[in-house]
Amino acid sequence: MFYHRCVVANQRYQAQLVLPEIGIDGQAKLAAAKVLCVGCGGLAASVLPYLVAAGVGEIMLLDDDIISLSNLNRQILFTEQQLGEYKAKVLAARLTQQNPTVQINWDLSRFNLETGLPIVAGYDLVLDCSDDYATKLAINFCCARLAKPWVYASVLGWDGQVALFSLQNREQPCYKCWQIKAPQATASCSVSGVLGAAVNIVGSYQASLALQALLGNFAQANRLFIFDLWTLEQQQFELAKRQDCVFHGDNLIHEWTQPLLNWAQLANLANIRLIDIRTLAEWERGHLPAAEHITIGRLIAQAPQLFTLEQTLVIYCNQQSLSLLAVENLRHLGLQAFVLNGGYQAAIQQIQQQQ
Ligand SMILES: [Zn+2]
Repeated sequence: MFYHRCVVANQRYQAQLVLPEIGIDGQAKLAAAKVLCVGCGGLAASVLPYLVAAGVGEIMLLDDDIISLSNLNRQILFTEQQLGEYKAKVLAARLTQQNPTVQINWDLSRFNLETGLPIVAGYDLVLDCSDDYATKLAINFCCARLAKPWVYASVLGWDGQVALFSLQNREQPCYKCWQIKAPQATASCSVSGVLGAAVNIVGSYQASLALQALLGNFAQANRLFIFDLWTLEQQQFELAKRQDCVFHGDNLIHEWTQPLLNWAQLANLANIRLIDIRTLAEWERGHLPAAEHITIGRLIAQAPQLFTLEQTLVIYCNQQSLSLLAVENLRHLGLQAFVLNGGYQAAIQQIQQQQ
């Protein structure tokens, strides 16, 4: 039986086993690899069939969205008969048919800064097949914290971008080093449109970079590849680490040079909004007086609508790592934002001491 499986596997992967960059050793690395795919839209439909065909051992699909008619110009693995079904579920069934030796799992969980770390910890590489800045930031944050590589991709109109962030040490650039601010509000598929063929070519590059990383080759990492499918021009740029970027591992707090505010100092501030970015469950178990609850995903995505330049924003989480991240984003928008020193736990202690 074992011999039979080996013969079948050799036949299936014959054309790539002869590639000097893969061979038997490389094929074993791919078979042992676990990949997390965030988003199951057009990019996933382009990148995943190649990873499944290449024999990556295990792939987790995350998406809570359903298939709609307006997806079908670029999400080419879905059919009209599947409208209204969950993308992750349909894609998992399709990919399992393609190569039953690959373990395909799916889940309807949302990936964000609150849920991401324990999920990413179980995988060797993350594929960014999302279409929004907050999700990309969350992937970047989790991968930087856990020193896991991820492959960023973005497509808008006829244009595509792709990059492998290796993040093996804190000297390597992350997504936030380069994409400091959120792309403009028009940067969404529904507003600016998107060409299916552009998604497909970016997905192919994404697949190639992912396979290279899983094989242990990072020669193309930390470089941004840009495509214009209208003029057929391509460009590439080396990405560099930005020294004040707060996303790099243990230095998250040490690199932060802006002042922190203590609970007692808040009484001296005017026009203040105290914002709790913990989970809803944590908020419901208890929160600080006069605080309001806004999840960090919503805070980053909707900051221009939520806040004004005149307001003093004080952000807290349980301790302070997530609020540092939130504050950095708010400051890049020109908002006056501060971290509550020590977060909820420290403030509660100070309140109890005052009583
Ligand atoms: Zn960075």
